[in-house]
Amino acid sequence: MKYIGPHVSATGGVENAPLNAASVGATAFALFTKNQRQWFSAPLTDKSINAFKANCAQVGITADHILPHDSYLINLGQPEAEALEKSRNSFLDEMQRCEQLGLTMLNFHPGSHLKLITLEQCLDRIAESINIALDKTRGVTAVIENTAGQGTNVGFSFQHIAHIIGKVEDKTRVGVCIDTCHTYSAGYDIKTEEGYAQTFKEFDETIGAHYLRAIHLNDTKKAFASRVDRHDSIGKGLLGIDFFKRFMQDPRFDNMPIILETPDEKLWTMEISMLQDFAK
Ligand SMILES: [Zn+2]
Ligand SMILES: [Zn+2]
Repeated sequence: MKYIGPHVSATGGVENAPLNAASVGATAFALFTKNQRQWFSAPLTDKSINAFKANCAQVGITADHILPHDSYLINLGQPEAEALEKSRNSFLDEMQRCEQLGLTMLNFHPGSHLKLITLEQCLDRIAESINIALDKTRGVTAVIENTAGQGTNVGFSFQHIAHIIGKVEDKTRVGVCIDTCHTYSAGYDIKTEEGYAQTFKEFDETIGAHYLRAIHLNDTKKAFASRVDRHDSIGKGLLGIDFFKRFMQDPRFDNMPIILETPDEKLWTMEISMLQDFAK
């Protein structure tokens, strides 16, 4: 079975996120557990934590299908020591928020070398940052998202992700989220039937299929291998509707959160029901 839902707003408190998800017919969702554009947010209150858990139970969405996303400010591969410390502290805070909410995954973009260190040094730093956070938390898996490779972002090649995982000590608590827009923009041709088969074969051979924990299902506005990250609504971009039909029929993506980060929230209800129809 496929579990699908958008990245919903948590405005007014994290407890609103499951209700927002249910209102568009979602069976999965993503959220920010704090303001994603600020370094510091007030701690979660017991009231908010309890209401979040109660609302998830009420709408019937379990932690297996909830994929919190970390702040955009965090760079776990940050070259500069003081800024790296700030990112690592903030990431630990995000992991602890997940623990408090009873969530089991935290999704993040690996990081950027900012042209100040080599790619390999950046990947090593990211692995070390993950090790530090995993050492101080329990029960939450660090889920690395592949990127489009915009600017100096690393993680656009499956080999980068394999390198990071290779240096993570607790391999039971590291996983991968594939973003379909990023994958195509990074130069993996998932649009064609042949390219689709080849890309997931390469994922398995390079990283290992058992590390796949979640999907960001997005169409893309930008050309193949453009290394530019611009999401589009399902079927409206360059990936095209046949890709989404093929994906929804593929049992390898059953039972994991499939998150829509599509730009037009007025379309979410329709996108979810259309995708669920493709899965039948
Ligand atoms: Zn994404
Ligand atoms: Zn993106």
